[in-house]
Amino acid sequence: MTFRVLTGLFGHESNAFSILPTTRENFQNYLLAFGDDVPAAIEGAQIEPTGTEQAAKDHGWDLVRTVVAWATPSGPISRDAWETGSSAIYDAARTQGPFDGVLINLHGAMASIDYNDAEGELLKGLREIIGPDVPVTITLDLHANVTTLMTEHTDIMCAYRTYPHIDQVATSKRAAAVLDRTMRGEVKPYVFTARRDTIEGLDDGRTTTDNPMTTLLARADKLEAENDGVLLVSIHAGFTPADLEEAGPTVCVTGDGNHARYKAIAEDYMDYVWETRHFDSNTYLSVDETISEIHRMMADGPGKGPIVVADFSDNPGSGAYGDSTFLLKGLLDAGIQNACFGTICDAGAAAELIKAGEGNQVTVMLGGKSDPTFGAPIEISGTVTKITNGTYVALGPRWKGVTHNMGPTAILKSGGMEIVVVSNRLQLTEIEAFTHADIDPSTHDIVIVKSMQHFRAAFQLIAREVLICDAGALSSKDIAKLPFTKLRRPIFPIDLD
Ligand SMILES: [Zn+2]
Repeated sequence: MTFRVLTGLFGHESNAFSILPTTRENFQNYLLAFGDDVPAAIEGAQIEPTGTEQAAKDHGWDLVRTVVAWATPSGPISRDAWETGSSAIYDAARTQGPFDGVLINLHGAMASIDYNDAEGELLKGLREIIGPDVPVTITLDLHANVTTLMTEHTDIMCAYRTYPHIDQVATSKRAAAVLDRTMRGEVKPYVFTARRDTIEGLDDGRTTTDNPMTTLLARADKLEAENDGVLLVSIHAGFTPADLEEAGPTVCVTGDGNHARYKAIAEDYMDYVWETRHFDSNTYLSVDETISEIHRMMADGPGKGPIVVADFSDNPGSGAYGDSTFLLKGLLDAGIQNACFGTICDAGAAAELIKAGEGNQVTVMLGGKSDPTFGAPIEISGTVTKITNGTYVALGPRWKGVTHNMGPTAILKSGGMEIVVVSNRLQLTEIEAFTHADIDPSTHDIVIVKSMQHFRAAFQLIAREVLICDAGALSSKDIAKLPFTKLRRPIFPIDLD
């Protein structure tokens, strides 16, 4: 028989401490399509709905497509953005059923201005429409915060297993395989969740080094392969800047049936997360330490490829503003040469540079406008070397095939630095963010990216060395400064050691 499956993607990582709202327009700037327009909108993009489409072909399902919606992390999403995503799913659930199953791709850290746990609310609303018997499958980012409300309304749960995240297609297919078995009546999935009093752990989920995350993932692979009852083990490092009671790492085991042994597995894994909570594979350098380290390495002579400096703290991919000037000012004052800087998000400055035109000298006040706490605007003079529309197709494994839109963009060359000034906030994960503007990062001594970890998928390959700078912007490691009000307390690392 042909199974009828309701599908959709509605994802956002909402930073509770960002003052920038996330609007419907922000989703339109990244990815927003509905119903039968979805296949064309995702063509070539290696993201979850592509995995769903492939699984539907493999399993012979009849798909009901609702929405694909994704936006760069920022503050909680607006009522309009929430209505856009949730209504598309609810309307199809009401009018196009009955369904044999549901497969929805979520992030697992969405908040709206009305719902602190937006995904829990979404799943509860969907369950009210489709009833208790239709199996609901969700995929999640490896940085999901999983709440009790989400788990209550989910039968099958499956998170990414890579960070940088490069397994979106595979994640949807793994989830789909379990859903197919469920619809055939072969298994009766049930999700068990374990958490501890920590908001950090698992080395933030990084999978580029030997650490607690890769250790647990290897155990999970083996367990899934050898234990028929363990359908999926979903391991989440959590998303810290969410003001949510249940934020933080979780392990969720989807077992065949409601048996205590699956709960015991989740608890055992979380014991390990707690034991290893202090592990951190990164060394976080201040701006001054970063500059000293650059000088030390450059004194050793030119190496093979650039020194790649990632500003962990101003990463738009975790909701930071992307216009902090702490690191830029430090590098300019230090006279760093043959460097390219991606990016400063400042639509006003970009417009001024574009108005000045290519080849012309200009002086602008750059960056620091979202919240000058993270570095005031700096007066900077230089030459506009290139103007673009800020659009490129990602070729790296993180967002392969996805069109990125940085908005009107200009390159400002000042001293030894080529600065990519953009109008839309976007984590710098792709080499094409530079090359589309005729900057070849591989020929520079220093390449600066606003990213925590995802940049490694493309930039590690060309880097002589990677330095992680915590310049002190919104996503700094110093989370004790964040004004949490709803997070459960006491909690590691704020109150507990
Ligand atoms: Zn993530």
